[in-house]
Amino acid sequence: RTALEAVDLGVRYRGGWALRDCSFRVPAGRVCALVGPNGAGKSTLLSLAAGLRKPSAGRLSVLGGAPGGADVRPRVAYVAQDNPLYPHFTVAETLRLGRELNPGSWDQAAAERFVHEGGAGGGVRPGARVDSLSGGQRRRVALAFALAKRPELLLLDEPMSDLDPLVRHEMMAALMAQAAEHATTVVIASHVIAELEGACDYLLLIADGRVRLAGEVEDLLSAH
Ligand code: ADP
Ligand code: ADP
Repeated sequence: RTALEAVDLGVRYRGGWALRDCSFRVPAGRVCALVGPNGAGKSTLLSLAAGLRKPSAGRLSVLGGAPGGADVRPRVAYVAQDNPLYPHFTVAETLRLGRELNPGSWDQAAAERFVHEGGAGGGVRPGARVDSLSGGQRRRVALAFALAKRPELLLLDEPMSDLDPLVRHEMMAALMAQAAEHATTVVIASHVIAELEGACDYLLLIADGRVRLAGEVEDLLSAH
């Protein structure tokens, strides 16, 4: 099965092409690192996969269907880089909303586990307003919100940026554990390759809007 498949995919903004002639396939069940320098086109690709933007050229299929389509959208969770959530909601209200938006699939226990379980950056109180949380705590709530939806595909845009290394390591480990438990395909964009080392088994490297390298990490390492 295929999580993402791009064929000659292109996206043009006013300023020019942000993605160009991109063809690649990410098999289902992988944890895929989407790496490349700032401005490479990572966010553009994720927003396309989330169905928030349309290609200017070529095509992208997500879980075998159209990104954002009625049969695909409920199976995909996307955490944008500046995950705003709902600043005036409390943590508990945020999770309640998630449950209402995702009837049937919402895993409240998983959400609470991810938000509240100890460790650095933990200790988020259910009654705390989202806009009173630290960046790391807010990120934790946003990731919990996405995970609790039990998506088949989880799209994360720089999820660990601005976090101190200890928190980053713990959140990454918790995220990977939950993804593995449910065989969730994860695509994680980052401009810091080291952040993803050891966590990913698939690599998509883009630079200047073009795919430079794509494949199983194992194959890429043994071939060179
Ligand atoms: P990355 O996430 O890898 O940093 P982006 O996808 O954000 O890259 O951006 C790719 C290129 O497209 C950059 O040159 C960026 O300035 C440009 N870009 C991104 N979003 C827009 C937009 N909404 N309008 C115009 N240009 C944009
Ligand atoms: P990233 O590089 O990680 O994608 P940015 O700070 O470039 O983050 O982008 C933040 C927001 O600004 C995004 O919504 C993106 O689409 C938009 N954006 C980025 N570059 C441009 C641009 N050149 N013109 C207009 N909007 C842009």
